[in-house]
Amino acid sequence: MALIVQKYGGSSVADAESLKRVARRIVQTKRAGNDVAVVVSAMGDTTDDLIDQAISIDSAPPAREMDMLMTAGERISMSLLAMAIHAEGEHAYSFTGSQAGFMTDARFGAAHIRSVRPQRVRRALERGSVAIVAGFQGINADGDYTTLGRGGSDTSAVALAVALKADVCEIYTDVDGIFTADPRIVPSARRIPWINYEAILEMASCGSKVLALRCVEYAQRFNMPLHVRSSFSHRSGTLVIPEGFDASTLPNLA
Ligand code: ASP
Ligand code: MG
Repeated sequence: MALIVQKYGGSSVADAESLKRVARRIVQTKRAGNDVAVVVSAMGDTTDDLIDQAISIDSAPPAREMDMLMTAGERISMSLLAMAIHAEGEHAYSFTGSQAGFMTDARFGAAHIRSVRPQRVRRALERGSVAIVAGFQGINADGDYTTLGRGGSDTSAVALAVALKADVCEIYTDVDGIFTADPRIVPSARRIPWINYEAILEMASCGSKVLALRCVEYAQRFNMPLHVRSSFSHRSGTLVIPEGFDASTLPNLA
């Protein structure tokens, strides 16, 4: 049995219909015989909306309160997604960053993950449940909520995959993987079927923003295979893997 971490970005969980679609996909993966832990971003533009609200009240809000506010976005999506999975007939438990054991340093708004001790996530999986974890957040040594910086849920997903020793970390987005150019702008752009960490880091530093830089560095450090793919199709996306890795051993390929 494989253990798969799936991360769904804001565009994949933008509204109730999307949450239901994602829930069906998670349930399919589970019923195919895999253990599934999910990391979820805030719905659609929630994080931007929260920032706008804060700024409309205080032009320079305290960093601690900003992080307290921003972690609310992922709490909404994680609990609604757990409900959507329940409605599909499977058990799911949602966990905040702190419940999932994400310890960070104290840099509000740009915290670094220090350690991940996901005992509760592991227990949920052992009981046969799907575990849903709020991306982008953790707690510092004082017990205050922190966020990892914009786009940080990718890093949460890789960190969870490493801590759980998952077989693959699937990053779901709204395009079929990583392309030679943005396929929404350049129709002749080609999908890259697989690529190693070094090459993707070069692309990232050239301004391509398919994956957060820190997420790729984290995956590279622990040789965690990534599969960047669309939540709107069942095609294979782009595998980001160590040089020489046998990609055919990965679970849940199309
Ligand atoms: N919701 C956060 C953001 O919009 C984290 C993420 O999506 O990865 O930056
Ligand atoms: Mg987001």
